[in-house]
Amino acid sequence: MSLREDAQAMQGDLAALRRELHQIPEIGLDLPRTQERVLAALHPLPLEVTTGGGLSSITAVLRGGKPGPVVLLRGDMDALPVTESPGEEFISRHPGAMHACGHDLHTAGLVGAAQLLSARREDLAGDIVFMFQPGEEGWDGAGHMIEEGVLDAAGRPVEYAYGLHVMSSTLPRGVFASRPGPLMAASDGLTVRVIGAGGHGSRPHASLDPVPAAAEMVTALNTLVTRRFDVFEPVVITVGQFHAGTRRNIIPDEAVFEATVRTFNQQVRDQVAEYTVQLCRSIAAGYGLTVEATYNQEYPVTVNNVDHAGFLGDVVRDVMGEERFVEMPNPVTGSEDFSRVLDKVPGAYMFLGACPTDEPDKAPTNHSPRAVFDDSVLADGAAILAELAVRRMAA
Ligand SMILES: [Zn+2]
Ligand SMILES: [Zn+2]
Repeated sequence: MSLREDAQAMQGDLAALRRELHQIPEIGLDLPRTQERVLAALHPLPLEVTTGGGLSSITAVLRGGKPGPVVLLRGDMDALPVTESPGEEFISRHPGAMHACGHDLHTAGLVGAAQLLSARREDLAGDIVFMFQPGEEGWDGAGHMIEEGVLDAAGRPVEYAYGLHVMSSTLPRGVFASRPGPLMAASDGLTVRVIGAGGHGSRPHASLDPVPAAAEMVTALNTLVTRRFDVFEPVVITVGQFHAGTRRNIIPDEAVFEATVRTFNQQVRDQVAEYTVQLCRSIAAGYGLTVEATYNQEYPVTVNNVDHAGFLGDVVRDVMGEERFVEMPNPVTGSEDFSRVLDKVPGAYMFLGACPTDEPDKAPTNHSPRAVFDDSVLADGAAILAELAVRRMAA
């Protein structure tokens, strides 16, 4: 039987595992119950399993029967601080936590790939590292796992890496999508504290009011995007938090705001880091205020190696059919810490449509409390990960 047929035979078990995980969502780097459940699922397989030191990761190595390269397959396991809207019979049992980004499907799918490949171990020409990762949602779990040695888990360096992300909207169910080059944005944070000297709202000249200056910075940051960056090099700056003051007739001592910044090119990213801080300092100085502006580079751009993105598309089309793969014209402005892995080794990342309805453009997006992921795509997701590893080894 083909890998795809074997995967189809596992569909029921994979969906059951996914639904179990869905009910016990955990957030961040410490996912003890999830880790325990995944370890139990991997236990019967011929894998060398290790767990993380500073985080509840799982690294499992499958030794092929023949010599060949080391291929890494990755699934992230963490949930989000979202309270799930009622709908599913397997709704989260933990109010305040939900698998709203579909990482429960990634975890179950990677278990499926490990089962498929374990059954073919003797024929595999190389080793496979299965990377079960906590803390994708802003905790840099991938960075931590790299520090703890996931890229050398097989005793020699990982040479190629692949992963996938399910989407509750946008893509039709069962359709895989990817592209060569940048796939997802770099995600950075700008934090600005404008410091003045508070006073009575009726006597602004006797105070140093930080509020208008901070408001001007918010507007100026958006103007900066259009005046200092090439229109063909996208930059997104969104101020999502702005805090100042307690009452309308009191000028506060300070105003604080934070922005998320998305870019697709490291040079542009470095310029944004420099220009935004410079701009805030200049505006503050103009009003006699002081400012603390810090720019933190967080997840880098997720960049697909051109050859591997092409290989990935060929594999999906060959295994699933032409209509099941879409080459995306543009990257997306979301970000991913799998970028840390693709920074070190060539490979590719892809999306998989898991919208339960026939109108993906109208469905709630990932991260919504109403996001629904159709787990009937699990078998195909697992089959594609396994096929990528097998065919890369044979290449
Ligand atoms: Zn997410
Ligand atoms: Zn995600």
